[in-house]
Amino acid sequence: MYTLNETHDPALRSWVASANTGTSDFPIQNLPFAVFRRTAGDEVFRGGVAIGDQILDLSAAAASGVLQGLALQAAQAGSGDSLNALMALGATSWSALRLALSQSLRSGAVAQSAWVACLVPQADAEYAVPARIGDYTDFYTSLHHATNIGKQFRPDQPLLPNYKWVPIGYHGRASSLSVSGQSFHRPQGQTLAPGATQPALGPCKRLDYELELGVFIGTGNAIGTPIEMAQAESHIFGLCLLNDWSARDLQAWEYQPLGPFLSKNFATTLSPWIVTLEALAPYRLPFTRPTGDPQPFPYLDSAANQSGGAVDVQLSVSLQTQAMREQGHNATRLTLTSYRHAYWTMAQMVAHHTVNGCNLQAGDLLGTGTLSGPTLDQAGALIELTVGGKQPLTLPHGESRSFLEDGDCVVMAGWCERAGAVRIGFGHCYATVLPARG
Ligand code: MN
Repeated sequence: MYTLNETHDPALRSWVASANTGTSDFPIQNLPFAVFRRTAGDEVFRGGVAIGDQILDLSAAAASGVLQGLALQAAQAGSGDSLNALMALGATSWSALRLALSQSLRSGAVAQSAWVACLVPQADAEYAVPARIGDYTDFYTSLHHATNIGKQFRPDQPLLPNYKWVPIGYHGRASSLSVSGQSFHRPQGQTLAPGATQPALGPCKRLDYELELGVFIGTGNAIGTPIEMAQAESHIFGLCLLNDWSARDLQAWEYQPLGPFLSKNFATTLSPWIVTLEALAPYRLPFTRPTGDPQPFPYLDSAANQSGGAVDVQLSVSLQTQAMREQGHNATRLTLTSYRHAYWTMAQMVAHHTVNGCNLQAGDLLGTGTLSGPTLDQAGALIELTVGGKQPLTLPHGESRSFLEDGDCVVMAGWCERAGAVRIGFGHCYATVLPARG
């Protein structure tokens, strides 16, 4: 677990003026990573670091002569069309690069003259999925989500007896992970209409989003060798926003006995920027369990996890319908919550995933599961906000929603703020629903 150091100093300013506004997601205290290229021309995708409204091109920075040692090696590893090589280097290298970036992007740094030419405006850039993701696992770490959705699928037993003992997850699909800005067609599949005696194939009628965080694995583990809690966080490179689109009517019909399948794997959207765990150090909170709940097994427990295993990432979901877009209205916020409400921490996800000897690899992605807070207005999915579609949301400008309609754009945002620290953000994760293919 990272301790505060000079890179978190709230007094730091950057020679990139747009980083110093106090409202930017990307002040010098953040320094998240993405894979980008200029939209115009035929550039290759390569790694970059956000600073204000600019991107520092890691390939150009590595060639500038400014960096040395571990930081230079890390910048070179981050220069390719995925961040896997940088992720595989490990926490010592990530920290060395962060420190060098912080020192070279500060006001007054001698590197300014060399690095001005290494900047690309974010307004001119497009992004790729930042890693070659070999495996994607989606967890279910919000007790509030599990309870809210369990009430609808199993009114007699909302929370299954295993929930407070074992971090629940399932293996997802890596091939359909895409980066923010995507559009995708409403999926079709088998559903069983209420009262029907047999299922039918057709377009999903209960399309939903899930507000999640994605956890990128940095260094992996050898098969057969579990990652212990004390080391778990050192295997995590960083976090992004994740929308786990869900076809609820497909899910209800298919999910027993092996869990979700086609209801989840048609599209998953990631924000382009990965915020490192080191950048999140000022926002850590104790991991606590409600009185009377089982305490975690020793393999899911550590002193560091108890003192700071949770993270206070503020999270929001907003919706812009097609009509709102056509009439020039901004997206309207549906939910505001925080990652601090999760029942299981990211370290527990890593330790649990590997306790059986399963090997994680650099670039693997773990989803937290839908991050719903304790009250219904903090719910991270429409199925919760609308109580299974029974209580439609009233939107401004005369529309309502039970589930998503064609043309809807779902926008997720994340940020961290507290007294004594500079606000940092995750940027946005957005995507638009297209009509089902005819
Ligand atoms: Mn999910």
